Amino acid sequence: MKGVGVVPEKKELRLVAHPEPAITAPNEVRIRTLEVGICGTDREICTFAYGQGPAGCDYLVLGHECLGEVVEAGPGVKNLKAGDLVVPSVRRPCPDPGCAPCREGRQDFCFTWTFKERGINQLHGYMTEQFVEEETYLTPVPKELRDVAVMAEPLTIAEKGLAQAWQVQKRVPGWEHHNRDGKGRGHGRTAVVLGAGPIGLLGAMKLIVEGFRVFIYSRSPKPNFKADIAAQIGAEYISSVKMGADDLAQQIGNIDLVYEAVGEGDVSFELARVLGINGVYIFTGIPALKSAIPVYADNIMRNITLKNQALIGTVNASPQAFLDAIHDLGEFKKRWPKALGALIAGRHKIGAHRELLTGIAKGIKNVIEF
Ligand code: BGC
Repeated sequence: MKGVGVVPEKKELRLVAHPEPAITAPNEVRIRTLEVGICGTDREICTFAYGQGPAGCDYLVLGHECLGEVVEAGPGVKNLKAGDLVVPSVRRPCPDPGCAPCREGRQDFCFTWTFKERGINQLHGYMTEQFVEEETYLTPVPKELRDVAVMAEPLTIAEKGLAQAWQVQKRVPGWEHHNRDGKGRGHGRTAVVLGAGPIGLLGAMKLIVEGFRVFIYSRSPKPNFKADIAAQIGAEYISSVKMGADDLAQQIGNIDLVYEAVGEGDVSFELARVLGINGVYIFTGIPALKSAIPVYADNIMRNITLKNQALIGTVNASPQAFLDAIHDLGEFKKRWPKALGALIAGRHKIGAHRELLTGIAKGIKNVIEF
């Protein structure tokens, strides 16, 4: 089969001849890849900062944002059959019997940091024609979501981030809107989404569904394509070039939640400086390691203490987060079919892999079709 892979030792990105997979255990499923999304992590692996193939294999098949179709289900598979659509997750548990999260299927909280990740670390990814996976790592997808489900994996980041925020904010009386008036738990709260890439825009959609008043704070001045999407979903777009963090806070009032989706320390901590009273800050970015930068550390620290702020990170994700992502993609599609569809900038053939992975990033989300 054809696959897109990196050979880390040779610092090479190339098409690889990857062996066709076969089911070897009763709970396994053989899947035909339909679409694979490209994200910053894939592009970073192509700079050879990290990324490693399975033991004994000199290449790593890329790709961890995937939609596939079941070809064959092993005899022990309970809920999937040929023709079903599925989204696979990324992380696989560590072997340590003492790692409670991994033993409970929550390898997104692995304590030992010896987990593996498909398409990233020691396991092949999905940028190839077929793959085999255990049923437990697959989330079923309704047929109506065929055109958008490749975005489930990036949306799980928001799902887990928000799920954690709700847990953390239980500490603050009245933070959650409890009235059953259909306005959502976030009604009355103000959220700022930092960045308008796929993680940011999907996060903004999730926050709006939850009832938050949402501002998307991103570099490019209006008018631009991302600001148009913001307008379509009912978020207000503000350019960071036109308005600094202090003015932003002044204009929109207490910032109850920040959803960082920009992956840059300087702007992220600049916004942390204006997080509001009892606020929660969700980090999703994974910046490349760099040298020290100046930030208003004392001001931020003072606020964290005096304003009871919480800073949390979110790396995807639990099986529940995948279920929630599929559910919410259905909700987004109902509310904003055009805006949701527009997040996918292009569907490409495998031959475009080099341009997509190493060229200038264009559009919001690019996808390779198989
Ligand atoms: C993936 C995560 C993964 C992280 C670091 C992200 O792009 O969505 O599943 O843990 O990269 O490898």
